[in-house]
Amino acid sequence: MAITGLAARGPRSLLRQIREALASGGPAQARLDMVVRIIALSMVAEVCSLYLRRATSDLELFATEGLNPDAVHNTRLKPGEGLVGEIMRLGRPLNLSDAPNHPSFSYRPETGEDPYHAFLGVPVLRGGRAIGVLVVQNRTERLYSEDEVEDLQIIAMVLAEMVAGGELVDEAELKGVELAPHRPERLKGLKFAEGLAYGEAVLHEAPVASQQLLSDDATREEERLKTAIGALQSQLDIMLDGQHGIVGPSFEVLETYRMFAHDRGWNRSLEEAVRSGLTAEAAVNRVRSEHRARLSQARDPYLRERLHDLEDLNDRLLRHLSGDGAAPRVLPENAILIARNLGPADLLEYDRTKLKGVLLEEGSGISHAAIIARAMDIPLVGGLSGLRDRVSQGDPVIVDAESGEAYLRPRPDVIEAIMARIEVRNLRRQEFARLRDTPAFTRDGAKITLLMNAGLTVDIDILHETGAEGIGLFRTEFQFMVAEELPRLEAQTALYSHVIDGAGDLPVIFRTLDLGGDKVLPYLEADREDNPALGWRAVRLGLDRPALLRLQLRALIWAAKGRELRVMFPLVTTVEEFRTARALVDHEITWAGRRGRPTPSVLRVGVMIEAPALVWHLDALLSMVDFVSVGTNDLMQYLFAADRGNPRVSERYDFLSTPALRVMKTIQDACAESGTPVSVCGEMAGRPLEAFALVALGFDRLSMPPSGVGPVKRMVLSLDREAARRGVVHLLKGSGGSLRSEIETLARKLYVSI
Ligand code: PEP
Ligand code: MG
Repeated sequence: MAITGLAARGPRSLLRQIREALASGGPAQARLDMVVRIIALSMVAEVCSLYLRRATSDLELFATEGLNPDAVHNTRLKPGEGLVGEIMRLGRPLNLSDAPNHPSFSYRPETGEDPYHAFLGVPVLRGGRAIGVLVVQNRTERLYSEDEVEDLQIIAMVLAEMVAGGELVDEAELKGVELAPHRPERLKGLKFAEGLAYGEAVLHEAPVASQQLLSDDATREEERLKTAIGALQSQLDIMLDGQHGIVGPSFEVLETYRMFAHDRGWNRSLEEAVRSGLTAEAAVNRVRSEHRARLSQARDPYLRERLHDLEDLNDRLLRHLSGDGAAPRVLPENAILIARNLGPADLLEYDRTKLKGVLLEEGSGISHAAIIARAMDIPLVGGLSGLRDRVSQGDPVIVDAESGEAYLRPRPDVIEAIMARIEVRNLRRQEFARLRDTPAFTRDGAKITLLMNAGLTVDIDILHETGAEGIGLFRTEFQFMVAEELPRLEAQTALYSHVIDGAGDLPVIFRTLDLGGDKVLPYLEADREDNPALGWRAVRLGLDRPALLRLQLRALIWAAKGRELRVMFPLVTTVEEFRTARALVDHEITWAGRRGRPTPSVLRVGVMIEAPALVWHLDALLSMVDFVSVGTNDLMQYLFAADRGNPRVSERYDFLSTPALRVMKTIQDACAESGTPVSVCGEMAGRPLEAFALVALGFDRLSMPPSGVGPVKRMVLSLDREAARRGVVHLLKGSGGSLRSEIETLARKLYVSI
């Protein structure tokens, strides 16, 4: 195709010309040369060059108009080398009026680029990853205008898709270009929820694929975009406004969303991208790519958080564009979810039957997202740094939450090995299933009661399958976390009735709302706190908002319908707090009685021991309560002053250490002396070795995630409790810190199955 005269300005006509050039056929290199020529002409630039990243990470000159043609496929730059390398590293444009004077300028004689001063380079972004750099240059010293920068970015995005689609680069050449990571990789992280899984990567923050990048009808695309933005804005407005005055801790987050959604700059960038000839979806992806590349460089955690908000907003907008604003994501059959981090409610949005595993770049073992993963029996490995850069949507991946590793694009022999291990795991599960109806007695005849932690309606369905003897902890806040607005009395009553009915004769302990901390709700009013774990959470919030707590207690009383009711309060720190909370229960019972409602046949009100202060006031506390349950997740967080949600510190201290076990022994001894029933319901109760230590210390009620019941029962059945007690008590007299290996040795010596 001949290019005559100066091309019309603007990316729209430029994109049309590129399309025409491509339609002319011919060898790939000739088409690529034609494309850079059209860009140079259209932008009135003397030079236009395209560099692409090789799998070696080097940037190679693939085409140029204006530089020496012999440099094509010969000039290579290391990552970070020269201005081009710098753009690649930063993932954002560089616009310079005098390039040779820039500290990163590196002169390559073979290119003959010395006479050019003005320089504009933009990253060629695909899915937020830079796969190359597109550059224009002029002799004269000048800065390119904002419009020109914008135009070149749009062209770079279209080029990225064309390169990936094989339209511009020879198939043989394309193999060497790193469009996406393709080598097998193994990443080491931490296991947060046990198990093994093999499946297909699904990016939690994935863009909806835009089928078509270039539009034929800009007006129609603009209309579609406007409608989608309008729908998104009003959805967010409703989320924020319809809160009946109860607006919440993540209010600020939502407010930021709303700010972004109404943001003129964002809207304008989208509109301009559409006007330039992109489809609305492509426009969203382009603006997203740019934000992502820019913000992911930010060191400031606040800014990086904003990236998370923006990602979500973009996903929502794409869903509106596809005409499905509120629809949940469709998962492939064996889905492995890939995310930076997950909020407590995020996992619940996915189809449990298809979600087989989770890999997180960050995360922590006792964060609520991990607890939910364990409750759903989904293996989760976290703390995998660099994960999201290394995995693409659809990649085969393995979650090895036995060793705490992730395999990306594994080789066939690795897949075979993992499948064999999955098989062994299934066989062990069958063995646990056979133990289901065997009561958990130790070899020396002590009965250990194994209970299940729950929080979702689906948990009730599996209660009887696990062989647990009841629910030792029902986390009522899960219902609140998945709701769009505060669940009403009827909804709460319905859930609790379902749980009590489903449990049949088995006891259920309801824990009143434990919100705040890492469990923030969009509709509950709270200020942003510097230390949410030490802040306004759990019973503190309930006592300050008695209407909320009383509503819940009322729902529990109604649901019990004259049957037994067991309730406990989380994070009670002083005996006065317990007294006040207990008075609310009594008040509600009286209120129900006055209205002729049936009151519980038996009422047991207990407390969770999670705040260390309470351990030093057990003498006063135990005479006031019907039972206690030790929440070791929080108790240890406060004991070791280590945020349970922060992976840097949460795995630093061992629950099987002298201070931790001494505290547990203090609690057990005091409860035994006063005759107060006590259980442990933190995550440690569900791990065989930890459970071994707890039973040795005298605990005989353990409440755990469903997947823990089988392994812990097998441990109990093999245990001589008296011998274990002597061994652990002896260890606690020593000066050792972590006793994990000593306890493990002891368990092996006693032939305990752990
Ligand atoms: C605990 O803190 O140990 C506990 C069981 O409660 P949660 O994990 O829900 O805070
Ligand atoms: Mg707790």
